[in-house]
Amino acid sequence: MELLFLEPVFKEAIWGGTRLKDSFGYDIPSNTTGECWAVSAHENGECRISGGPYNGCSLSSLWKENKSLFGGYPGDKFPLLVKIIDAKEDLSIQVHPDDAYAGLNEHGSFGKTECWYILDCLPGAEIVIGHHGRDREEMEAMVRGGRWNQFVRTQPIKRGDFFQIEPGCVHAIKGGTLILETQQSSDITYRLYDYGRLSDGKPRQLHTEQSIAVIKAPFEEGKTITEITKEDGAVCTHLVTCQFYSVDKYEIEGVFAKEFHKYFTNVSVISGSGLINGIPLKAGQHFIIPAGSGECRFEGTMTIICSNPE
Ligand code: ZN
Repeated sequence: MELLFLEPVFKEAIWGGTRLKDSFGYDIPSNTTGECWAVSAHENGECRISGGPYNGCSLSSLWKENKSLFGGYPGDKFPLLVKIIDAKEDLSIQVHPDDAYAGLNEHGSFGKTECWYILDCLPGAEIVIGHHGRDREEMEAMVRGGRWNQFVRTQPIKRGDFFQIEPGCVHAIKGGTLILETQQSSDITYRLYDYGRLSDGKPRQLHTEQSIAVIKAPFEEGKTITEITKEDGAVCTHLVTCQFYSVDKYEIEGVFAKEFHKYFTNVSVISGSGLINGIPLKAGQHFIIPAGSGECRFEGTMTIICSNPE
């Protein structure tokens, strides 16, 4: 099976910057580019295959017409979405619904469970993850009263940290942070608070009622794993397994051979360079290892983040 290399899609945002170009050399549309949708079959930003027999095909058309590439994984939509996010400024305080709420209220969309690998951040950086409402009543009172300083729970971060954000978890990426996000293929975000900012002269829409409906109270931390194993040619760190995905990091040094997941595996090269099965690889490239690819042979010095569906 040939690897499926993907052409990323870029999204501008009021909080975006230029690091997608500066760090990875991407051709970004403006100096306020917030997101690189690196592995996506979502209708709001769909990747196409670059090179090989499927050159130019959209990932969603491959998903529909070439099920064997994905090991016959069930479902009519490609389930995952991998992004790199450049937050030059703070993102809004937000929350996502789960599958049940999104399915009912958002035209059958998937909900959004997501996880963050911190690629880089400023010294002293933090994120918003969770809130201080002790129960639903207090959460609602704090949100309706706009008591944001009291409400949000912040946590310091450093490069290499990893967080699981469950649906119903209040969160925000703060300025100066570069993140690789693996998530369910969903674009449903409920915005709680946007710091009174204007976009094109107007405040961006808030979704107070939907947010209150989906926020879980009290806050419970998402479960991550840090299981490190040393294999020939790589240090492997298993980061998370939840009902939607597993995510692993491989720090490759030399030659590393591995057979990946029975369905398919998304791969993002986050630093370094080398080869896979003799094909040159560098930081910023993203590809899918199809089902039945057999053993893949990496060579070089690079770090990759892999995800597969559960
Ligand atoms: Zn989010």
